[in-house]
Amino acid sequence: MSKNLVHKVPKNFHDAHITPQKYKEMYQRSIDDPNGFWADMATEFLDWNQTWNRVVDYNFSKGQAQWFSGAELNVSYNCIDRHLPKRAKQTALIWESDNPEESMEISYADLKTEVCKLANTLKSRGVKKGDRVCIYLPMIPQAAYAMLACARIGAVHSVVFGGFSPEALKDRILDADCRLVITADESTRGGKNVPLKANVDKALAHCPDVHTCLVVKCTHNDIPWVAGRDICYRDSVSVMSADCPPESMAAEDPLFILYTSGSTGKPKGVLHTTAGYLLQAAMTFKYTFDYREGEVYWCTADVGWVTGHTYIVYGPLCNGATSLMFEGVPTYPDAGRCWDIVDKHKVNIFYTAPTAIRALQAQGDEFVSRSDRSSLRLLGTVGEPINPEAWEWYHRVVGDARCPIVDTWWQTETGTHMITALPGATDLKPGSASFPFFGVQLALLNEDGSEVQGAGSGYLVVKSSWPSQIRTIYGDHQRLIDTYFSTYEGYYFTGDGATRDADGYYWITGRVDDVLNVSGHRMGTAEVESALVLHPKIAEAAVVGFPHDIKGQGIYCYVTLMDNAEVDGNLRAELIALCSREIGPIAKPDVIQWAPGLPKTRSGKIMRRILRKIAESDMDSLGDITTLADPTVVDTLIKDRISMMA
Ligand code: ATP
Ligand code: MG
Repeated sequence: MSKNLVHKVPKNFHDAHITPQKYKEMYQRSIDDPNGFWADMATEFLDWNQTWNRVVDYNFSKGQAQWFSGAELNVSYNCIDRHLPKRAKQTALIWESDNPEESMEISYADLKTEVCKLANTLKSRGVKKGDRVCIYLPMIPQAAYAMLACARIGAVHSVVFGGFSPEALKDRILDADCRLVITADESTRGGKNVPLKANVDKALAHCPDVHTCLVVKCTHNDIPWVAGRDICYRDSVSVMSADCPPESMAAEDPLFILYTSGSTGKPKGVLHTTAGYLLQAAMTFKYTFDYREGEVYWCTADVGWVTGHTYIVYGPLCNGATSLMFEGVPTYPDAGRCWDIVDKHKVNIFYTAPTAIRALQAQGDEFVSRSDRSSLRLLGTVGEPINPEAWEWYHRVVGDARCPIVDTWWQTETGTHMITALPGATDLKPGSASFPFFGVQLALLNEDGSEVQGAGSGYLVVKSSWPSQIRTIYGDHQRLIDTYFSTYEGYYFTGDGATRDADGYYWITGRVDDVLNVSGHRMGTAEVESALVLHPKIAEAAVVGFPHDIKGQGIYCYVTLMDNAEVDGNLRAELIALCSREIGPIAKPDVIQWAPGLPKTRSGKIMRRILRKIAESDMDSLGDITTLADPTVVDTLIKDRISMMA
């Protein structure tokens, strides 16, 4: 796990959009002359109906930011119409069904028709500029149509992940005061049907202001129907005109609300606006993924997460790219599905999360090696720190040691990539997200708020506004100020900790809440987890602190074995020795609990706050677990914890 291991920029990236020299020049200019830099980017990347009076105005202590005030544009026009002269026939979206036999290609011309028809349906149901629309759909093309149709008429979408419970859905519909919901009869994942419409019915029982529910029929199984409220998507769009002029929107008009995944508490309705968001989405997509004309790009995230918003829909389409959307799961029909899809659609760029990489790694290399994957040129990750072990596997086995990996650090609140390698410009260090994107000014702060100089560790903050910055928490601006702008005056506080090494690379150590303080030594839970998963029998680990009489905090490890591995008499001692060797004797685990599964959010992130409670044996205050992918995991962990104490 050497932090000095470097993968050089490969030869086939020497002609990338951004070379080392260009990165230096552009980054420097973006800091020295942000107004000039962003004005140039705005002209290069977007089409405007009206130009701006000012590039940026912001005030962090009030949580305010305005980009391109006075300007007007439309997001759906930028993602669709302006490409038509050149790309009407080019595929905009490739849809791969849960069923491996089924897929579909949607051209830019088709996309325009679908989006306009749906936009006209929304209008016919009284949706106007500024109204909120809830989208609760599977990973089907209609999810992208729905987002773009809202953008076309100036409605604000709130996409709620299709795996959320009726309760979680209801809370989000009410919080955003949505009046119209777009859903499907059922979604299909891994061959199993999920009753989306039935969930909506339960949620809407408590949402009297929702007057319309548009239903896409996917499985065509019988579902309850509320006359007057429920409308069949297909019947409705089929009679609509395929022409719907895009609404000219102010740069700062809201584009969408998106609730964060809730790893750390009550979900927040993060609000993003039109111009700044789209600009940085388009720029990061082109530069981070070094996207080239005609390439096929696949991001495995769900559209219910910000990654799906920015890097399945807005970033790719704004660049006129071909974006693949996958309805299913990586392990159905078997753990080779992703690589089958890569071969089937000749995917060039593949973007996924460390949790998915570890899960596939645990199933063995054969599922990967049976495929060709020669179309792949670049790999990416997002969501949490990637442990170098998984990085190396992804690089060596999936990418045949040929494809660079861009590790992208960002948040729902940042809207787009903030720290990332650029494949033609950055020598890669596995486990480091490397350098700030253009215009992003970072600092690491000490406890007392002073800035760490040079190499060192601290709280990761951003020093100045960036275009795709969160504008407010819907309905609660004070919460925005309290959460992000009050901890350290004059900075945006990310909530994450990081280390900067002597070469200036950033290493995210995890959420600040996840930092351990063992006998006065601070270390990130991610470091201990990375050490544990080096053991060939270990698939995944989650580490939390717990109160310890002598050390202040002890190290509590939840460890999941590889599929075919078993606990033998030595394993515990081997793991302790491993942590001691990799990090130091101070990092020796105090407790190791074997965990058949870990509590994860629907986007695959470990909910450490729950694990902390279990480690502390405080089972009564687990808090909100409605956003967990599989709540039964928690019961098992509690049962085992209780029997460990007996
Ligand atoms: P909530 O804010 O509701 O608790 P969340 O933080 O999990 O949920 P996201 O906005 O999806 O919701 O995740 C952003 C966080 O994910 C970052 O703050 C960071 O902790 C982690 N993260 C994302 N990408 C990376 C990465 N490449 N390396 C390290 N950590 C990452
Ligand atoms: Mg967060």
